[in-house]
Amino acid sequence: MHTLLLNASYEPLTVISVHRAVVLVLADKADLVAAGEGHFRSPSTSLPTPSVIRLRGFVRVPYRSTLPLNRRNLVARDGGRCAYCTGRGDTVDHVVPRSRGGEHVWTNVVAACQPCNGHKGDRLLHELGWKLRATPATPKGWSWMLVGVGTTDPAWSEWLAPAGA
Ligand SMILES: [Zn+2]
Repeated sequence: MHTLLLNASYEPLTVISVHRAVVLVLADKADLVAAGEGHFRSPSTSLPTPSVIRLRGFVRVPYRSTLPLNRRNLVARDGGRCAYCTGRGDTVDHVVPRSRGGEHVWTNVVAACQPCNGHKGDRLLHELGWKLRATPATPKGWSWMLVGVGTTDPAWSEWLAPAGA
């Protein structure tokens, strides 16, 4: 269970645990924007389960335009599928191998299964006759927040729409 945390300006900040969200609301640091199903109860209080909350005070956060490139985030971007055989992809493959001048950037990495990664080695795709199923792209917008969260709450969608949309 997670709660979307909005800045005082209504911009999404991050996704936090429901427990943390309740603590913020009870401490008068945040207000409930959208309630989920159910109630949070403690001996002294009862509160609708927060789905979206908004901070009372504006916090300035360093703008984070892209998701950090690591194995966990890459596997999440690629849906856990190997870019070559669609098997279980849980290793990082550099499309243009680093030994051949390939960079460690989102547009040059894909999730790959161990056998494909091992078989590919230091070779280029055309040397193997392999093709990518999709062109690797840099995750943009608010999507990075949701990586690792799993299910997202439909109530979040209006806050997570791309800027200007
Ligand atoms: Zn594979």
